Amino acid sequence: MKLNIPEYIKSIRPYKPGKPIEELEREYGISDSVKLASNENPLGPSPKAVNAMTGAMESLHRYPDGRGYYLLEKLAGRLGVEPENIVLGNGSDEIIGMLTRVLLRAGDEAIMTAPSFLMYEIMVRCSGAVPVFVPLKSLFVDLDEMAGKITDKTRIIFLNNPVNPTGTVITKDDFARFMERVPEHVAVIIDEAYIEFAADPQCLDGLAWCGQDRAVAVLRTFSKAYGLAGLRIGYGVMPEELADFLHRVRQPFNANMLAQAGACAALDDDDFLQRTVSHVRGELDFLYAGLERLGVNYFPSEANFFLIDIESDADAFFEKMLRQGVIVRSMVSYGYPEYIRISAGTREENRRFLKAFETVMNLGKGQG
Ligand SMILES: *Cc1c(COP(=O)(O)O)cnc(C)c1O
Repeated sequence: MKLNIPEYIKSIRPYKPGKPIEELEREYGISDSVKLASNENPLGPSPKAVNAMTGAMESLHRYPDGRGYYLLEKLAGRLGVEPENIVLGNGSDEIIGMLTRVLLRAGDEAIMTAPSFLMYEIMVRCSGAVPVFVPLKSLFVDLDEMAGKITDKTRIIFLNNPVNPTGTVITKDDFARFMERVPEHVAVIIDEAYIEFAADPQCLDGLAWCGQDRAVAVLRTFSKAYGLAGLRIGYGVMPEELADFLHRVRQPFNANMLAQAGACAALDDDDFLQRTVSHVRGELDFLYAGLERLGVNYFPSEANFFLIDIESDADAFFEKMLRQGVIVRSMVSYGYPEYIRISAGTREENRRFLKAFETVMNLGKGQG
């Protein structure tokens, strides 16, 4: 083939999806494995959402509402914004892509932390723009350094709050000081995929900035606290002027019918959200205590996952945990060669994690 692929597309490292659990289990000869690798909701989907989607199945021969009228109305009411400020996406991933398509041209710059969510970099490169990386400082976002990287070419700054994979938060005060240094030609995107879990009263609430005359876009998702990762539904909140441009590049039916029905019902299921958040906080404490008993260092988190310092190669540790039937995430590719990340599971899953962890630790000692 004589394809003439642009250099900026060739520069994209593909997002490496994990293998399906069933495939891993076959490969490693294990069964009944525990997956704590993707920050999913251990309680499953909201039962009200499942009910609503079952009802909506009857209408699947119809196209969905291309505007997402009911979901937009409901979200606007909850968030205290207008429906015109909200754009729905096939997961918040898709909103990232719409924002980069609208805001970036070849050669522009977008500032992000290192490590950060891989989709930021991929979408920036899709536009031929240049990702500019600012390392986290002791696991925290270094807003001073990020502001220092702003040039005439900067169009976007990506922030993630709480930060995946560290679980740290950006404070209100730090963000306010940061915004004084951000010029008007720069859009600030705050990805709040885990905001429902944050308990720190100093934690930035991005929505407080959306009503102001600034180019701030907040991304939220139903994939984590609402337990609907497989459904693919998320949204962005932003000034109407920016939302208008996103609607021009948006596929007309990007939020599918089941997703709209499920998300609407999930928003009404306050009980499920509260149970999820209190479960996660309780299980994080359970895991912290278990690791302390084993004398292992970890980093407390404001999200539903946290980092553990295993003081040895994390890829090798991942393999050994897998043999015990527990799937964790190695942080090698995130630039933390001796850290793993796990998300809070059910009590039973977390017990099995701690047991496997202890077994693998003792194996290591036996070899040492
Ligand atoms: C999980 C996650 C998301 C959510 O993506 P969806 O496309 O809505 O599933 C967004 N940002 C970060 C940092 C995440 O970890």
